[in-house]
Amino acid sequence: MEEVVVLIVGAGPAGLATAACLHQHSVPHLVVEREDCSASLWRHRAYDRVKLHLAKEFCALPHMPYPESTPTYVPKKDFVEYLDAYAERFGVEPRYCISVESAAYDEGARRWFVVARDKAAGIEVLLTAKFLIVATGENAMGVLPEVPGIESFPGETLHSSTYRSGSVYAGKRVLVVGGGNSGMEIAYDLANHGADTSIVVRSPVHIMTKGLIRLGMTLIQHGMTLIQHVPVTIVDFLIVTIANFTFGDLSRHGIVRPKTGPLLLKAKTGRSSVIDVGTARLIKKGIIKVFGEISNIIGNNVEFEGEKERNFDAIVFATGYKTTVNSWLKDENCMMNSDGLPKKAYPNHWKGENGLYCAGFARRGLAGISMDAKNIADDIFSTIELA
Ligand SMILES: Cc1cc2nc3c(=O)[nH]c(=O)nc-3n(C[C@H](O)[C@H](O)[C@H](O)COP(=O)(O)OP(=O)(O)OC[C@H]3O[C@@H](n4cnc5c(N)ncnc54)[C@H](O)[C@@H]3O)c2cc1C
Repeated sequence: MEEVVVLIVGAGPAGLATAACLHQHSVPHLVVEREDCSASLWRHRAYDRVKLHLAKEFCALPHMPYPESTPTYVPKKDFVEYLDAYAERFGVEPRYCISVESAAYDEGARRWFVVARDKAAGIEVLLTAKFLIVATGENAMGVLPEVPGIESFPGETLHSSTYRSGSVYAGKRVLVVGGGNSGMEIAYDLANHGADTSIVVRSPVHIMTKGLIRLGMTLIQHGMTLIQHVPVTIVDFLIVTIANFTFGDLSRHGIVRPKTGPLLLKAKTGRSSVIDVGTARLIKKGIIKVFGEISNIIGNNVEFEGEKERNFDAIVFATGYKTTVNSWLKDENCMMNSDGLPKKAYPNHWKGENGLYCAGFARRGLAGISMDAKNIADDIFSTIELA
């Protein structure tokens, strides 16, 4: 049984950022990670052409900006390099291949008891901690929807987390299911590599340029400094007007805007805008075809609502992710809801009871992670100081 002060589960950006902030307070901690590397999502579960959607000034982790030489929209490779440099700078040395299988609080001992599996050695590892930080990510596991008849489809089906590049799909008829950022970008990648590409977009979505989102966030940032309050609805109105001017009417092509503006929608529901990488132009040209919900699949034939049907060779499900925290965290006070996301609303979501915290579950990407990491480290530091 190994005793630690703070145990951080997960060595993605959230785990690394929280460890770095604890390091700044000289609070001893241990990071455990189920894979054999840090940032496994970025190294092994993200497609090749992915870049951070927001400009680098909105994506830095605490206490370390990106180098001048890093491109404004950070490619996957540079992001991984940044995370490696970040871990080195703050002395974060995760213990790899340690997969946490259960964690429960012992009232008598006033500590968290954690059971983990050392995947390399094939043994069980027991740890106790005064503070437990869940940093296992909102994207721990890919979600595959139930689609009627999918078992009859003879072609390849895959989740976006295992998609790397369109280069292997040239000349094939590929359907991408899901009109979020991953789905739209994968459709673009496929079309660019010569696949006959279609995409299922079920719900209204805001399509924006990177510049517009940056403008919106910058306006709000400046507004908050200058006059304390800029109505987000005004910023939303402005950027939607410019977006409509930029993209024209996409509803004729099956892409409808939500009634709520992009920044307010993100704040209220966590739903992100789609940052266009060129997909809108290909949709308007008819190179990428847009369909509504799938109603049935029979062999290679996919039927869509509205009685359209097409044959496909492969289907990529860009249908999102879910957390896995409820499979291992036994928390009587239920910091997380049944979806494995915090019960408390932002900005109070990061703290549970008995020294339990979560980092990276605010549905606010890397900016949210930075805030969580700082809040958690400050809170643990002040608790230790008071004791
Ligand atoms: C394709 C893609 C593009 C994205 N682009 C952006 C973007 O541009 N901007 C942005 O802000 N966000 C983006 N995101 C969201 C992104 O997931 C987060 O910003 C960031 O990676 C989340 O960091 P995290 O540390 O919370 O989770 P993760 O990166 O998922 O890290 C969690 C870690 O915990 C480990 N783990 C899980 N369970 C256990 C366990 N039981 N025991 C031990 N270890 C465990 C995992 O192996 C993983 O390494 C993107 C996501 C995807 C999939």
